[in-house]
Amino acid sequence: MDFDRFFQSQLQRLHDDGSYRVFADLERKQGLYPLATRHAANGSNDVTVWCSNDYLGMGQHPKVLAAMKAAIECCGAGSGGTRNISGTSHYHVALERELAELHGKDSALLFTSGYVANWATLGTLGARIPGLIIFSDASNHASMIEGIRYAGCAKAIWRHNDLRDLEAKLAAANPTSPKLIAFESVYSMDGDIAPIKEICDLADKYGAMTYLDEVHAVGVYGPRGGGIAEREGLMERLTVIEGTLAKAFGVMGGYIAASRQLCDFVRSFASGFIFTTSLPPSLAAGAIASIQHLKTNSSERVRHQESVRRIRVQLNRYGLPHLENPSHIVPFIVGDAAKCKWISDILLEDFHVYLQPINYPTVPKGTERLRITPNPTHSEADITHLVNALRSLWSNCALARGVA
Ligand SMILES: *Cc1c(COP(=O)(O)O)cnc(C)c1O
Repeated sequence: MDFDRFFQSQLQRLHDDGSYRVFADLERKQGLYPLATRHAANGSNDVTVWCSNDYLGMGQHPKVLAAMKAAIECCGAGSGGTRNISGTSHYHVALERELAELHGKDSALLFTSGYVANWATLGTLGARIPGLIIFSDASNHASMIEGIRYAGCAKAIWRHNDLRDLEAKLAAANPTSPKLIAFESVYSMDGDIAPIKEICDLADKYGAMTYLDEVHAVGVYGPRGGGIAEREGLMERLTVIEGTLAKAFGVMGGYIAASRQLCDFVRSFASGFIFTTSLPPSLAAGAIASIQHLKTNSSERVRHQESVRRIRVQLNRYGLPHLENPSHIVPFIVGDAAKCKWISDILLEDFHVYLQPINYPTVPKGTERLRITPNPTHSEADITHLVNALRSLWSNCALARGVA
């Protein structure tokens, strides 16, 4: 078989339907976010980033940078091993304590990413709890889906945020089977928020565990950045809270927070936790600084929500179609892969605005979009520039304005 020819023919299909991914080659400018230098074949120029998940700009916070530098000076670059074999630094231990405290749980367990946290935890629970049925929201992130698939256990997919469908599926299952409901708080593409309390009520009624992915909410919501469950006073009702250190906390890594026994179980049985080198101590140190800062300071959160509000007001003023939702994610729906990419290309080339097109399979076909993520570091001028650029492109686009 001519393997490269096979690969090329598969890739051509992505090119043909406009979903082939091209990465922007960026150098983010510490101290000057949301500015970044973009490198391209025809030279380099500065762009304003409008699609970062570093929601609060903590990736350039002086406390975070100082903590990371100090940890490198203290302990060097890498961790030197898996958690079990020399790779547990004092920073890892302190960070797990910090995370457990953030979510009001006994324990927390670190992973190299949020993806791995979801995959390894759901995979391990599903594979090792005899007869477990996982009830998974239809819009769950790929990392949860892959974990459930890997677990090989029984599963039921319930319609997104649909309590009646969830209850129907819980009621139809064997009452004696152990159950787990897996869902997210803020859904990353539509920015809608799950009815956490009602889901916990159903979990109680049917004796199910609850597993909540708060990746897009930690740092951003709750009086101490504990997420939507903290804001709504529901943390203690969740069996597992999963999060990332890579989005609002501005660093990298993933985690779960849960009971001592559950964390110890995953620590002891999850391949994706055991057989991989632990995070560099500097990342753990940066995460601690970021979490501690956001636990006691709301100014980033307040300015963030202010940016979100300001951009929505301007988009509404000009009838630019964005999904209304109760979160900080502002999806600008284009509904066509090629047009989405066209708008994104021109924004980058002519307006020096970087807004990555989001196409299938990240979102369903026909809902292709530009996912705007406002940041406290965006100025009023940045917002006006983006909205003016979108206005001129949107009127040039063959799509009806105001129809999402
Ligand atoms: C980004 C994301 C993850 C994965 O987190 P990483 O730390 O980036 O690996 C998990 N769940 C959801 C909903 C996400 O959007």
